[in-house]
Order: sequence, then structure tokens, then C-alpha cells
Amino acid sequence: MSFSNTAGQVIRCKAAVAWEAGKPLVIEEVEVAPPQAMEVRLKILFTSLCHTDVYFWEAKGQTPLFPRIFGHEAGGIVESVGEGVTDLKPGDHVLPVFTGECKECRHCKSEESNMCDLLRINTDRGVMLNDGKSRFSINGQPIYHFVGTSTFSEYTVVHVGCVAKINPAAPLDKVCVLSCGISTGLGATLNVAKPKKGSTVAIFGLGAVGLAAAEGARIAGASRIIGVDLNAKRFDEAKKFGVTEFVNPKDHDKPVQEVIAEMTGGGVDRSVECTGSINAMISAFECVHDGWGIAVLVGVPNKDDAFKTHPMNILNERTLKGTFFGNYKPRSDLPSVVERYMNKELELEKFITHEVPFSEINKAFEFMLKGDGLRCIIRMDA
Ligand code: NAD
Ligand code: ZN
Repeated sequence: MSFSNTAGQVIRCKAAVAWEAGKPLVIEEVEVAPPQAMEVRLKILFTSLCHTDVYFWEAKGQTPLFPRIFGHEAGGIVESVGEGVTDLKPGDHVLPVFTGECKECRHCKSEESNMCDLLRINTDRGVMLNDGKSRFSINGQPIYHFVGTSTFSEYTVVHVGCVAKINPAAPLDKVCVLSCGISTGLGATLNVAKPKKGSTVAIFGLGAVGLAAAEGARIAGASRIIGVDLNAKRFDEAKKFGVTEFVNPKDHDKPVQEVIAEMTGGGVDRSVECTGSINAMISAFECVHDGWGIAVLVGVPNKDDAFKTHPMNILNERTLKGTFFGNYKPRSDLPSVVERYMNKELELEKFITHEVPFSEINKAFEFMLKGDGLRCIIRMDA
């Protein structure tokens, strides 16, 4: 693919614009400005829908920011680069990421953190950092960005720190799901919960993120993986991911943490919460074994949620943790997660249950709202 004739020019292309909260997206012709300092312009080839897009599109109980271009799970190719960008060049295969890595701040220099000071996830900002403006417009009206990625557009502009350069041999229609959900779940288990071989792990929420967390438990050698979901339809799918037992909280008249404690002789060694429900977060914490249990929160809570548990649950040596993007540093670590797929250590095909052309992007929202399937790939060229 050659891009030499578009560099430095405004590109007119198709984008799916959310004009209002909860209303179907509209495919519009938008103008995408060239990248400024430390920015790159990407041609998006495949994008998929993650629950976080749906959550901010519904905008319930939030400060809504519209019109906006959503989308953050995607794969593409660098079209052009702005001033000061030395790590990327046109033609590079990349995954954009909703949280970034500037490589200079204290977080980026710490081995423990991926919470970059400059580029950590910011769902309220709809503009680029360089000039506080949007790169998207329709007849001069600015259209806001979403988490610095806005991948529901044939072209988008992203800060260089939010772009992972990956193996060009990796199929972008598969590895695009690593740009958010699957890496998040996998890393939540492997990097944060860190179950030991033979341990018991509970996974709350068996969507793509939760099943990726289950995949992490399988890779780590867990002996029992207990899947918890309110939607019984999820259990069939989950069997393909090494989940060994299922609990539907609706089938029991006592709290699910008590059910799990009974099943495991006092609690699981690790739990990973991937629902966004505050009740599930509390259950996920209270179902870990005292003395050593670790619970990891991944789901994005509602604005006014508060986590409530008796402090004695903590004094009894249970640990509560949380993570964004599975603790992976996007630029440094994501290429190696792609290699796990290339080495067949990690299977991505089973996460991809639907595919639609860009013109039918609203169907991907319907699947997610119905809880039908896991990931829906949206083909930008169709
Ligand atoms: P999804 O909607 O496909 O899956 C969520 C599952 O949770 C569903 O199957 C639902 O039935 C189940 N669920 C809801 N409430 C429950 C409850 N009380 N008990 C048990 N199960 C319950 O969503 P997804 O794309 O897999 O994302 C999961 C969560 O992770 C979302 O909240 C998303 O916003 C969040 N997320 C966080 C990060 C991060 O970096 N921390 C990244 C991506 C996604
Ligand atoms: Zn940083």
C-alpha cells in the first residue's frame, strides 16, 4: 500500500459518527486532518466493538460528549507521521491502544505501572493533546475523538505513544482484538492475579474479556476455572476456553461468594472480575480464600458506584487489585502478546463470533446489547 500522495493533506473518508447518546451511528464523510507533532495518521483495516464503546455511547449517568467517533479495538497501517515521530513510518502494521506509553514519565519508567502520566486513558477528553483540538470535522464542525483512538473511521489520528508496532506477518483481522479486550483479560490473570500452577480461579463475566482471563488461567496451569455469569447462554461458549465449572448467581438463593466458598473449601485462590457490575466486584473479592486470595477488578463501574465490604475481609489477608489493559505497556509489551498468537500459544479465532461490513456497524452494537457472541469484527473495506 502506498500513501505518498496523501501525506500532509486532509483526507476525506467514511466514519461512523455517534451524533447522540444511544442513537444508531451514522456513516458520514468526514475530513481527517494530517497528524501534528508526535501524532500518526492510521488507515484502519479492521475494528471490533468492546463493551467500553457501548458504555460511553449509551452515556448513562455520565457527562456526554457528542458528536463523537467511537472505537478503540482495531488494527491498521500507518499512513503518515507528524513531526518528531521516529519509531514509526508509513506502511508499519500497528494496533492503536486506548491507553498510552510516553516512555518518559515515572510510570513508564517503572517496571510495575502502565498508567502513563501523559497518555493514560481519559474518557472525557475528545481532542488531541498537541493543540486541544479534534482532527475530525464535517463541513467545519469538529467531531470529538474517543480515548485517543476513534477507530470507527477509515482514517484516524493517534498519539504515537498509543500505537504498538507489530509483526507485519500477523493477520490484522485476528490480532486487532488484542488491542483491547483480549490483552486486558489475559494480562489481568497473567500479570496481575498471577495464579500458581494447580490453583483455583473464578472468573466473573464470561464476555470476551472474561474468557481471555480464563485463557490466562489455563495458560498458567490452573486446576479449576469457575465461570460466573448471569447469562446462561455464555456457558456453552465458555467451555471452549477451559472453564471447568459454571455458577449462575440467579440459580442460588444465597450470595455467589458463599456458593463459591462451599465449592472450594473456603474460597478460590484467585478471582478476576470482568463485568462492570459493582455487585460482581464485591462478590469477586469476597469469594477469594483468606490468607492468600487475590481478586482483580477489570470491569468499568458506573459513575456513582462505591465498593463496600467489611474491613475484616481485608484484615483476613485477602488482596484487592485492579488493572487497566492487563498491566501491559502498549508499545513495549503488546508486540510480544501478538507473538504469543503467532506461536499458537494463544488462540484468537474462538473469540471472533461475528463479522460485519463497515456499513452495518450498528449490528455489532445489537449483538453486544443482546449478549450474542463475543467479538464482532468490522471490515472497513466492505
Ligand atoms: P461483555 O458485555 O461482553 O461481557 C460482560 C459479561 O458480564 C456478560 O456476559 C454479562 O452477562 C456478565 N455480567 C454482568 N453483570 C454480572 C453479574 N452481576 N454477575 C455475573 N456476570 C455478570 O463485556 P466485555 O467486552 O467482555 O467487557 C467486560 C468489562 O470489562 C466491561 O465492563 C468493560 O467495560 C471492561 N473493560 C475494562 C478494561 C480495562 O482495561 N480495565 C478493558 C476493556 C474492557
Ligand atoms: Zn508515560
